[in-house]
Amino acid sequence: MNAALGAVAHVDAAALAHNLAQVRALAPRSRVLAVIKADAYGHGLLFAARALRGADGFAVARLAEAERLRAAGIAQRIVLLPGVDTHDDLAFAARLALDVVVHHRSQIELLEQAPPACRVDAWLEVDSGMHRLGIAPRDVAAAHRRLARCAAVRAPLRVMTHLADADARDGSGTRRQIEAFRACTAQLDAAASIGNSAGIMAWPEARSEWVRPGIMLYGISPFPADTAAAHGLRAVMTLTTRLFAINRVPAGGAVGYGGTWTAPEDMWVGAAAAGYADGYPRHVPGGTPVLVDGVCAPLIGRVSMDTVSVDLRGHPGARVGAAVTLWGPDLPVELTARAAGTIGYELVCRVSSRVPRSPLSHASASSN
Ligand SMILES: *Cc1c(COP(=O)(O)O)cnc(C)c1O
Repeated sequence: MNAALGAVAHVDAAALAHNLAQVRALAPRSRVLAVIKADAYGHGLLFAARALRGADGFAVARLAEAERLRAAGIAQRIVLLPGVDTHDDLAFAARLALDVVVHHRSQIELLEQAPPACRVDAWLEVDSGMHRLGIAPRDVAAAHRRLARCAAVRAPLRVMTHLADADARDGSGTRRQIEAFRACTAQLDAAASIGNSAGIMAWPEARSEWVRPGIMLYGISPFPADTAAAHGLRAVMTLTTRLFAINRVPAGGAVGYGGTWTAPEDMWVGAAAAGYADGYPRHVPGGTPVLVDGVCAPLIGRVSMDTVSVDLRGHPGARVGAAVTLWGPDLPVELTARAAGTIGYELVCRVSSRVPRSPLSHASASSN
């Protein structure tokens, strides 16, 4: 191992392709918009777009991400999920041949005022009950009529909605959302997009003409109490670093900022080169596991900016330079997220810019 000291996020293109195949298996009649917003949930935008080239299109949440995709030669459909809110951005979206989501009446006005040369594909977003974004069901028919008449909007117009809690065990909210969406779009003869990952996995009714998987593509479960492996998905990111010090701490010695953890006996404590500046969550409690040379070891004391301390009592053979895995296929990020009181989505999105994303080649995959 000869990379510079510090955390590295290894990303596995084969796992992304495998997870896309799992989406296809669950929703064989749906076309797939792979959601690669937020730098592909922290995995690397262009890396993910290339690994997911078998998708029918992509979805992003910022115009700059769509611009990067086009500049890199990505020719598939790209849907801009928040749509646009200025004339300039609409013109730019049209130049980039993007699809825009229309979730608000102000966006309909923008399209109606567009200059003649400006033409885009559009997705009318219905608020079926999440009450975050979207046109209210009672206004959908009128909004659809206006957009259909709008010279800037290419036919055919598509419709979509977003599910608020498809990951919940009690599915009554999701059932109501799907019914509300179907009721107000049934007359429109428009292709529909409903399911996000949880919708695709748990709700056959959400496997509409188009689906929009995000988190499941990265091999992370959208459900609060399990891990993605239980669904046949493979973790894409492995966040690793290594031990750069091993020190003897005497019984009674306090470890780390605030001295929140005290050694119960004379013991070896490792320092691993990763911390909250890399995006490892500061709020995990002591005892949260990492892997040292592939074997579980508990964190002790507070996570600091660049370093975490590791209890090496179970690792008598550990040496400086030992591989440390913070999460990955053998230590699901869902577990770290639960320890930190958050979700896997947030942890992978927050892996910071100082952490190199390193595509796993198959040779290194087998030696890791
Ligand atoms: C982020 C997002 C998705 C993907 O959601 P996952 O839970 O990651 O599958 C789908 N649709 C919209 C509108 C989104 O914002």
